[in-house]
Amino acid sequence: MKTDIEIAQEAVMEPIVKVAQKLGIKEDELELYGKYKAKISDEYMNSIKGNPDGKLVLVTAINPTPAGEGKTTTSVGLGEAFGKLGKKAVIALREPSLGPCFGIKGGAAGGGYAQVVPMEDLNLHFTGDFHAITSANNLCAALLDNHIQQGNELGIDTRQVVWKRCLDMNDRVLRNIVVGLGNKMDGTVREDHFVITVATEIMAVLCLAEDMDDLKERLSRMVVAYTFDGKPVTAGDIHAVGSMAALLKDALKPNLIQTLEHTPALVHGGPFANIAHGCNSVRATKTALKMADYVITEAGFGADLGAEKFFDIKCRMSGLKPDAVVLVATVRALKYNGGVPKAELGSENLEALEKGIVNLEKHIENLQKYDVPVVVTLNSFISDTAAEIAFVKKFCEDRGCEFAISQVWEKGGEGGIELAQKVLETLEKKESHFHVLYEDTLSLKEKIAAVSKEIYGADGVVYSPAAEKQLKKLTELGFGGLPVCMAKTQYSLSDNPDLLGRPEGFEINVREAYVSAGAGFVVVLTGAVMTMPGLPKTPAAFSIDVDEDGRITGLF
Ligand code: ADP
Ligand code: MG
Repeated sequence: MKTDIEIAQEAVMEPIVKVAQKLGIKEDELELYGKYKAKISDEYMNSIKGNPDGKLVLVTAINPTPAGEGKTTTSVGLGEAFGKLGKKAVIALREPSLGPCFGIKGGAAGGGYAQVVPMEDLNLHFTGDFHAITSANNLCAALLDNHIQQGNELGIDTRQVVWKRCLDMNDRVLRNIVVGLGNKMDGTVREDHFVITVATEIMAVLCLAEDMDDLKERLSRMVVAYTFDGKPVTAGDIHAVGSMAALLKDALKPNLIQTLEHTPALVHGGPFANIAHGCNSVRATKTALKMADYVITEAGFGADLGAEKFFDIKCRMSGLKPDAVVLVATVRALKYNGGVPKAELGSENLEALEKGIVNLEKHIENLQKYDVPVVVTLNSFISDTAAEIAFVKKFCEDRGCEFAISQVWEKGGEGGIELAQKVLETLEKKESHFHVLYEDTLSLKEKIAAVSKEIYGADGVVYSPAAEKQLKKLTELGFGGLPVCMAKTQYSLSDNPDLLGRPEGFEINVREAYVSAGAGFVVVLTGAVMTMPGLPKTPAAFSIDVDEDGRITGLF
């Protein structure tokens, strides 16, 4: 069997100019990054503003397991299948982060015969958006420390600097550091922290901004520190906005690439779904809706994180309304949720499947709370048996969901036709009455409780004394009307990664809360989740190499 990278490298790509042409985009409306990547110009985006919107389909999944789920694979394959059926579809995905690429998870270009290409470029530096975000973030940090050094006119309390430096890498030693060591000219000594770029507020701001004006307004609202008398200091206050916006000028433009079957894909922005809001950019999604009749977009990790934030943050803020949701499950992952160890997932085990399918059940119930039609798809693995597939199909249909098998990993678009037809049927027959889970007017604690109880299935929420204080203060400062961005482990519906299936009788532990005033949400850290991941003992980086001809191996 060929690896993902082998399949991707064998592909014959079309020049991106040609892919764009099929959408009616002219060459001078593109900003080319070589032959196979381009950014979409503002002129083009403005020129299609009057077009009607296509249908918006969100792809999400059950809780991730080491067995793999395949949301990106499914999104790509579904887009290709629409193409095969003669429909105009565009895929809207997130850009991968280098952290997981060199860590455990690998890249994020899809898999098998359902990938976006050039996959090496996408998984490594791509068009430089993450570098721009990292630079803008660290420019803000430098300006902040310089403000303190140059007399601290604003009276910033150096023990209350909340802005963190960032790097797009899993590097645990940077979680807690001390800066400013040395003499008087080397700055003020203080404890500092790094987060991974995909967890930064600037990443969220870039993904939620409607245009350059909105980007600048959001940047200026970002809280970077508090003064000695507890007042927030913003990026605007330290004059960091114009220069950060200049660094982000090109990063704000959506990137166009293609699938293995030349279906267009807008790949733009990439916040993680566990420690950030987990969705590609609003600009890319909105542009895609003007470009095509069907837009397929993916939100990160399981539906408890990615889909919840897609609905309650991205759709709430941007006015986007999903028309259908595709919920991806695999027989392997369901059996894993039923207690089967990874090494034994290859053999039929209906008992474990029945035990583990409660995870899928909870996600179906959750998605139905938003009143959006749900199509469940089994991303089929070669080891799945007919009895296992039949069991899942009946389970879903009994719960009012459409069901389809997807074989896109093995067969590309051809393997997604059954799914595409089910999605088309659903879009025709079932109307979406999408609404958010909770109203803006609830208190922050009521919002946290709504997500914890309704979506995670918790009995209640326990707050650390620090979190109690922070939430009270954020409310006093006027941030109580914002939605919450929950940071939680992706592996469980609870905040304990070991509780698989559909845990019950647990509480959500809130450790910390802070505002991302530019993004427009309050981040709530639960359990032991980290905003700067670490590397495993044998990271994916050990297998990655490049030969004399520039051919990369080991990426997946
Ligand atoms: P997600 O987007 O949910 O994180 P991906 O689509 O990126 O998942 O897939 C994760 C990995 O699983 C990829 O390396 C992909 O090649 C592999 N994979 C996905 N679907 C299948 C399948 N049906 N059979 C075998 N491997 C698969
Ligand atoms: Mg993915």
